[in-house]
Amino acid sequence: MIQVTKSGPDFFKVKKKKVKYPKQSDSWSEISDIRTDLREYILQTEQESMCVYCEKKISSDSYKSNIDHFKTRNTHPELTLEYNNLIVSCNNREHCSSKKDNFNLSKEDFKKILNPVCDDIENSFSFTAFGELEGNNKKAKFTIEVFGLNHITLVEERKNILLQIQDFKEVDNYLIFEAFKCHQTLIKYAINS
Ligand SMILES: [Zn+2]
Repeated sequence: MIQVTKSGPDFFKVKKKKVKYPKQSDSWSEISDIRTDLREYILQTEQESMCVYCEKKISSDSYKSNIDHFKTRNTHPELTLEYNNLIVSCNNREHCSSKKDNFNLSKEDFKKILNPVCDDIENSFSFTAFGELEGNNKKAKFTIEVFGLNHITLVEERKNILLQIQDFKEVDNYLIFEAFKCHQTLIKYAINS
């Protein structure tokens, strides 16, 4: 999971002002004409083209990624058009936004998972040499479970990156990030440990 700094493009603010009841969950359909642009903006400007949750590289095509309401519209309808609640996730059915939504978290449960916008993400996770993500605290452990962040395909992908990084030891860190353009937290962790 990566830390996200939200900003918010003007076209979203302008559109939101025109919505009569922005705190109702059906207000989401009222901004349908800007959602493609919004997904593209969030992905490129705030997420370096990665899924916030699994850190895989994703494109902004609608079959590859979606705008996820971190706190779901069911439990938090008042946050439907709250910009800080909008995260771009990959569309994999077995981890990330789909997995979280299938978890059916209650309003209270959201206090038990890490929020990539306002919690300390950087110090919450570590990795095993086999590519497994480990939670450094209770919230991080539950976050891994809710988002399925140790799905076998993710663990395999991370394990392969760790193997490849060993050959890059003398290379500048920036160039290592550039070479993969994904799994930033893992790479940072591997370089510093
Ligand atoms: Zn993902």
